[in-house]
Amino acid sequence: MNSAPVEEGTPVSVKIRERVLAARKRFHANDNIADFIQPGEIELLLDEVEDKMKGVLASLVIDTEHDHNTDDTARRVAKMYLKEVFQGRYVKAPPITEFPNAEHLNELMIVGPITVRSACSHHFCPIMGKIWIGVLPNEHTNVIGLSKYARLAEWVMGRPQIQEEAVVQLADLIQQKTQPDGLAIVMEATHFCMGWRGVKDVDSKMINSVMRGSFLKDANLRREFLSLIPQKG
Ligand SMILES: [Zn+2]
Repeated sequence: MNSAPVEEGTPVSVKIRERVLAARKRFHANDNIADFIQPGEIELLLDEVEDKMKGVLASLVIDTEHDHNTDDTARRVAKMYLKEVFQGRYVKAPPITEFPNAEHLNELMIVGPITVRSACSHHFCPIMGKIWIGVLPNEHTNVIGLSKYARLAEWVMGRPQIQEEAVVQLADLIQQKTQPDGLAIVMEATHFCMGWRGVKDVDSKMINSVMRGSFLKDANLRREFLSLIPQKG
């Protein structure tokens, strides 16, 4: 028996939202909602976003019917959001194979710089930057390939983000996948909403960090990590 009868013409976004609400999950801009999207629905979302983008262009008083530069812009923007820059909301986490720490590695390991591409939740303007990840494994820590850190970062950053929340989401994810004794992440990024609009300050960067476990307790370890990542700026 179907629980909630859904009308034929109901937009797919409404159907997806109802599933998220029924599961009592959050669907903020930087949340992943892949579990609530059924096969084929991304294509329907593309059509829906394209249609709404056409409305935005119309309200901006752009003659998309005669302007060959913008006649397909609504579709391009829909694709860019759903399949590229915000894909990290709509696809499941990249598969990560974890290996037991056979060599019993317990030395500080640093990965980076990993290039970060995201967009701010406030203006949907690009955020471009770099992150460095420090891991202090223990003998029970799972080991993942170096490139996997970049895949996980790409998945988290591929959503409208707030830098402070993005690094915490990434730290939670790596923590959960590898269970290290210590985890440190530093992110340095340029926010285009400050350079392209607003104060038009093109040079300002935002740097923030998360420290977990032994990086929090051990000032020497923290210093070692920070001294080994290249001078920022
Ligand atoms: Zn912004």
